[in-house]
Amino acid sequence: MRIRRLKLSGFKSFVEASELRIEPGLTGVVGPNGCGKSNLLEAIRWVMGEGSPKSLRGGGMDDVIFAGTATRPQRDFAEVSILLERQHGDEGQAGESEVTRRIERGTGSAYRIDGRDVRAKDVSLLFADAATGAHSPALVSQGKVGSIIAAKPTERRLLLEEAAGISGLHARRKDAEQK
Ligand code: ATP
Ligand code: MG
Repeated sequence: MRIRRLKLSGFKSFVEASELRIEPGLTGVVGPNGCGKSNLLEAIRWVMGEGSPKSLRGGGMDDVIFAGTATRPQRDFAEVSILLERQHGDEGQAGESEVTRRIERGTGSAYRIDGRDVRAKDVSLLFADAATGAHSPALVSQGKVGSIIAAKPTERRLLLEEAAGISGLHARRKDAEQK
């Protein structure tokens, strides 16, 4: 699975609707301190279902919404979409789908896949099956390298399981056990 495009509106410092195409190969994000590089990675984790405000450097979920500056009023919502390309050999049929998450101040998040309203769980299963997602070891945030090195063996095992693509199976098994 590959991310082809990222769209943001009102997410953290990305107050204007912005669109980024991600070409095949290695992508580098460069810019001065505070220009929003980490915010971009957080947008990807957020749309994939990140549920912890702390790991998005906020105190509450509404903190991802543009908070305003001296010259611009705050926004009432944030929305992020990623266009995913599934290749042959990936889970499901080859093709594209767009996953969107939107949050409105005080009312929480809603998700869409290709314009259809879905549950948060549908989004997390989609990424779990593709062995990726908000906690994917493929998304290495600032400071994360050190914490991987310092991780306990059990924590490192979880990372390896995710990288090997079997955590989706665990999520489904847990689900089946609860029913
Ligand atoms: P560095 O090179 O220091 O790691 P960076 O490019 O990763 O910097 P970010 O941490 O992505 O920068 O961006 C920080 C900026 O985002 C700060 O200026 C901060 O004020 C702004 N920011 C974060 N949350 C919000 C918000 N909710 N509303 C408006 N601006 C925000
Ligand atoms: Mg940063």
